[in-house]
Amino acid sequence: MKANCWYGTTDVRVENVADPHIINPRDAIVRITSTAICGSDLHLYDGYIPTMQQGDILGHEFMGEVMEVGPGVSNLKVGDRVVVPFPIACGACFFCKRNLWSLCENTNPNAVLAEKLWGRSPCGIFGYSHLVGGYAGGQAEYARVPFADVGPIKIEDGLSDEQVLFLSDILPTGYMAAENCRIQRGDTVAVWGCGPVGQFAIVSAKLLGAERVIAIDRFEERLRMARERAGADLTLDYSAVDINEVLDDLTGGRGPDACIDAVGMEAHLPGVWGLYDRAKKAMRLETDRGGALRQAIQACRNGGVVSVPGVYGGLIDSMPMGAFVNKALTLVSGQTHVHRYLRPLLERIQKGELDPSFIITHRLALDEAPQAYEIFKHKQQECVKVVLKPAERSARAPSERHDNVFGSGNGRSANGGSNGGGTEQVGGAAAGAAATGRTTTH
Ligand code: NAD
Ligand code: ZN
Ligand code: ZN
Repeated sequence: MKANCWYGTTDVRVENVADPHIINPRDAIVRITSTAICGSDLHLYDGYIPTMQQGDILGHEFMGEVMEVGPGVSNLKVGDRVVVPFPIACGACFFCKRNLWSLCENTNPNAVLAEKLWGRSPCGIFGYSHLVGGYAGGQAEYARVPFADVGPIKIEDGLSDEQVLFLSDILPTGYMAAENCRIQRGDTVAVWGCGPVGQFAIVSAKLLGAERVIAIDRFEERLRMARERAGADLTLDYSAVDINEVLDDLTGGRGPDACIDAVGMEAHLPGVWGLYDRAKKAMRLETDRGGALRQAIQACRNGGVVSVPGVYGGLIDSMPMGAFVNKALTLVSGQTHVHRYLRPLLERIQKGELDPSFIITHRLALDEAPQAYEIFKHKQQECVKVVLKPAERSARAPSERHDNVFGSGNGRSANGGSNGGGTEQVGGAAAGAAATGRTTTH
């Protein structure tokens, strides 16, 4: 099959690799009809996440058609349409039982690596480095989905791929970010970053009752989308104004009740802090750039919440702990517990309360993944979100947008599905171990 593979910093290639196959009773093989590129993929693309290996298959936002199920999967059958959550969770461990799915302790066979870096390990994640399991990802024609009896949600009505694809990650991520803000009537929520996660955080903050949402970025098309499609009341260009000053003015000097950092470790900042972070990183004194997070902590009102869906991998320098403690802030974060939100958010989509497809600006064939990464990373052609269609050939102009040209009902292609190898072997080892319990020995 074809898959988009990582080869190094800003080097991804679409290659022919071995087809995935069932190796555990609770596996399913999914033929992927739609898959997206996430801001989290950019952290891999830009070389921020350690333990990537050449040939690793990228991608953790995907959906498709079930081609094959293992004997332990009784809730899915061949031909079902499913969306697959990016965290891999067993459904039965201490954390899964507490609804903390991204902390599942049975799905990262490389937990020992993660423990060295973070003290404890999160769950395994598709296509997201060997730190979180080395699972083959979903920017491919097919994927093996471990614990398929727990994760995938069936799409049984006429909703298009584009309406439901983002249940796999960014819609629940934006929603959890807003939910973590514990929004009260009358609240003002400020959102740093108007990428896909920021857009859905804005939508969700409004759904959860925020009176005013202020969105921050520097790309006009993203700010426009935040206002016109996501429902932000006000947008601010951080390259043009002093964000903390303006937020003070807008909130009578008190600060926003909650601040969402939907930027993460590659924050861009103008001025002295931007130079500081770039210099520290160049000297390897910090791994992540914490500009947006620092600003959010500084801006938040006393006793407020700083909610961090943005991903950080390692260390940030100069965290304003004084502000944090003396203002009695609450910091909430995490890889999203996607499983928790699948059903309720699908219901909102079914009822027409939400149509997440508004963020899609680019629809490309899988073959075009290398260009797609460049376009998304550099925000060329006003790109906000790219969806790749593995069954399409690369005939289309990259700038086609806002028209559902591909639809979701692609023809079935062959599924060899029997030989492991390449990255699949890594994922295979992962799930083999994972199925047997907590594994810290790989
Ligand atoms: P993206 O790269 O498209 O968006 C990031 C946005 O932040 C960009 O529009 C950029 O211009 C803006 N930005 C950069 N510096 C800024 C600053 N100083 N102030 C305000 N805005 C700034 O990515 P995305 O797909 O929206 O993802 C955003 C973050 O969420 C990433 O870190 C990603 O890894 C993370 N994420 C987390 C989860 C999770 O489970 N927690 C899931 C998906 C994505
Ligand atoms: Zn993602
Ligand atoms: Zn579990």
